[in-house]
Amino acid sequence: MNRYWSAVVHGLTPYVPGEQPKLANLVKLNTNENPYGPSPRVLDAVRAEAADTLRLYPDPGSNRLRAGIAALHGVAADQVFVGNGSDEVLAHAFLALLKHERPILFPDITYSFYPVYCGLYEIAFRTVPLTEAFEICVDDYLTPNGGVIFPNPNAPTGRLLELAEIERLLAGNPDSVVVIDEAYIDFGGESAVSLVARYPQLLVTRTLSKSHALAGLRVGYAIGQAHLIEALNRVKDSFNSYPLDRFAQAGALASIEDRDYFESICAKVVATRTRLVAEMEALGFEVLPSSANFILARHPVHDGAELAAALRERSIVVRHFKNPARIAPFLRITVGTDAQCDALLAALKALC
Ligand SMILES: *Cc1c(COP(=O)(O)O)cnc(C)c1O
Repeated sequence: MNRYWSAVVHGLTPYVPGEQPKLANLVKLNTNENPYGPSPRVLDAVRAEAADTLRLYPDPGSNRLRAGIAALHGVAADQVFVGNGSDEVLAHAFLALLKHERPILFPDITYSFYPVYCGLYEIAFRTVPLTEAFEICVDDYLTPNGGVIFPNPNAPTGRLLELAEIERLLAGNPDSVVVIDEAYIDFGGESAVSLVARYPQLLVTRTLSKSHALAGLRVGYAIGQAHLIEALNRVKDSFNSYPLDRFAQAGALASIEDRDYFESICAKVVATRTRLVAEMEALGFEVLPSSANFILARHPVHDGAELAAALRERSIVVRHFKNPARIAPFLRITVGTDAQCDALLAALKALC
């Protein structure tokens, strides 16, 4: 207990990000970063911002970037909100759109930041168990609620919910906001952005951290009808008017505009994922079907914690979750380069 702390701070259980270990020759497969660098055009754009103009505040509305994102998705600029990583976009969405009388709903196995935001903003929530096969069952969410949020594909399972099922959720849930967190949609799934025009309660969030290889730049965005975006802007402008600095605005725009590079690195990750899954299965692992840039896999004999520790001794870091208990036997492995995956497979061959 610290007598200087507020009661809110005493009650917080903060999110713990995957570690960024400082090991030599590290094979880093623990935080779903992209193994390929960002587009060379991003680096040029960021370098060009290292200029005298840094003494001036950036555009508080990130208007050029938002126009670029709007053009990419075929929506209006007032249907786009940008933030300092999609974590910030999500935080604002929790306060602006998900804080009501009724509890919000999200899966029992999902992005572990959601309950943290609920703690910060004092939002009631109820978790909904995934099925035996670790799938989201839409019927479970067709009940009065203060809002619904989950990633699609879900994390850390990697499992995708078909767009028709998202639409069924929206059609049966007209009275509260549904947030679809599409952090991993670029690795194999149909985006719900196409439903925004027809569903006034839908907010779709995206990040440049994974598929654009820009985790270090901190850019995320949301797409929804203008009335939802206005709520996010009200929170943003009550918190920090300049969430994206000059480097982030310029670099993110360059990345969005270099479609060929983006598609080439996504295709490489997906090809490596296919091979990694096949080889893990050949080693006896059960691998959940993944539409993301990571897989969730368990060995019938060797426990997740044991394997994660043994891999770490070989300078290979993957993610292991002690909680919830249902995923404790699993490892969550980011899809790296082919060479990184070969190193992982060689180590697992020796261990299993
Ligand atoms: C990585 C991740 C985010 C956050 O991404 P940032 O834009 O880097 O803040 C959000 N949701 C899910 C499900 C993620 O895995």
